[in-house]
Amino acid sequence: LTSGLESAWNKLKGEEVLTKENIVEPMRDIRRALLEADVSLPVVRRFVQAVSERAVGVGVIRGVKPDQQLVKIVSDELVKLMGGEVSELTFAKSSPTVILLAGLQGVGKTTVSAKLALYLKKQGKSCMLIAGDVYRPAAIDQLVILGKQVDVPVYTAGTDVKPAEIARQGLQEAKKKNVDVVVMDTAGRLQIDRTMMDELKDVKRILNPTEVLLVVDAMTGQEAAALVTTFNLEIGITGAILTKLDGDSRGGAALSVKEVSGKPIKLVGRGERMEDLEPFYPDRMAGRILGMGDVLSFVEKAQEVMKQEDAEDLQQKIMSAKFDFNDFLKQTRAVAQMGSMSRVLGMIPGMGKVTPAQIREAEKSLQIMEAMIEAMTPEEREKPELLAESPARRKRIAQESGKTEQQVSQLVAQLFQMRVRMKNLMGVMQGGSVPALSN
Ligand code: GDP
Ligand code: MG
Repeated sequence: LTSGLESAWNKLKGEEVLTKENIVEPMRDIRRALLEADVSLPVVRRFVQAVSERAVGVGVIRGVKPDQQLVKIVSDELVKLMGGEVSELTFAKSSPTVILLAGLQGVGKTTVSAKLALYLKKQGKSCMLIAGDVYRPAAIDQLVILGKQVDVPVYTAGTDVKPAEIARQGLQEAKKKNVDVVVMDTAGRLQIDRTMMDELKDVKRILNPTEVLLVVDAMTGQEAAALVTTFNLEIGITGAILTKLDGDSRGGAALSVKEVSGKPIKLVGRGERMEDLEPFYPDRMAGRILGMGDVLSFVEKAQEVMKQEDAEDLQQKIMSAKFDFNDFLKQTRAVAQMGSMSRVLGMIPGMGKVTPAQIREAEKSLQIMEAMIEAMTPEEREKPELLAESPARRKRIAQESGKTEQQVSQLVAQLFQMRVRMKNLMGVMQGGSVPALSN
């Protein structure tokens, strides 16, 4: 997908503005790239139309090239297509909250059941699992083993009992145990079939679940759209869980779910370990699809939040290597203003997977940086060189901010590294250099 889109942007190099004429070719590339990524045709059609309409309508933003502008529009529309915001799980007003999992065979339902239990346990909720796959004894054993692993009770009733009856017994048990959330694993089939749907309907009637989540393998290609549509019409889903995102899926399924069902993807599975379940972030997914999980989009986001003049000013400064601690502060604050640190961290290379602990860590280090910058004199903020040259100044800042001299040195080094990195990003390849701090 990325390389296809790359050629779309490239076709706009050298253009002044986006026009009806000059977006024809790039839009064709985008369309092709989406189809190759297994996005279903009707979804692609609507998407391409939405992007084209917006692209032709936009005015010229000073300092932003048409190709960048198109990237932004495509990215916005991708996020919108995937539901915009993060969709949280819904909990019942009175416990237990019941979550019913459905999906084809091998997509990861049983794994997700246990992952989900662990995920909810981490949020302080007590859980119970119900083993509803009566077709394979091994499936029950698998859930029992995973349940042990995450230390959550599993209700089993063997393979001779109908799923709906297991659901009834399991729910009763859950109420007796007073658990907050019950997750029911069910049997899948290789393909959609009547018995599976009828079984699921029966189970649903008994459980009256708060969430009916369709588990979808991210590798599912074109069929994802039909699959989601059918499950939604037959049993009525409240959302989806996309699994195996750690594989090299082409992302098509992610783009189709919301569009065809109106229901969001709520969670994603990114591996076989029990910890590998996280919320679905439409903006991060768009970033991944666009292949822009890099510092450029980080800068872009930050610029968006800052006033336009500030952004232009910043660009000027980067070009002339005058990016100073005031800009640094402005940028970090702009980032904080964007709300969720996690969204930004997701854009930094090598930080694809961000844990809550890492987010807290990053927020803490932002606070530490701010404290040190606040301890600088206006002159020092404007001329970071002063700090590179003078250990005495660094020592004073350390004392005033209550940090160590080493932390101050690190911050100074970071600023110079950032200058170089930004300059390179802006395509000014002559680059600056990172001075060695004098001792
Ligand atoms: P079910 O038939 O829907 O219950 O699927 P299972 O839970 O038994 O999973 C089928 C296979 O997919 C197992 O080998 C799992 O370990 C694997 N699996 C499930 N989720 C993920 C995931 O997010 N990433 C990867 N790499 N493998 C997964
Ligand atoms: Mg299973």
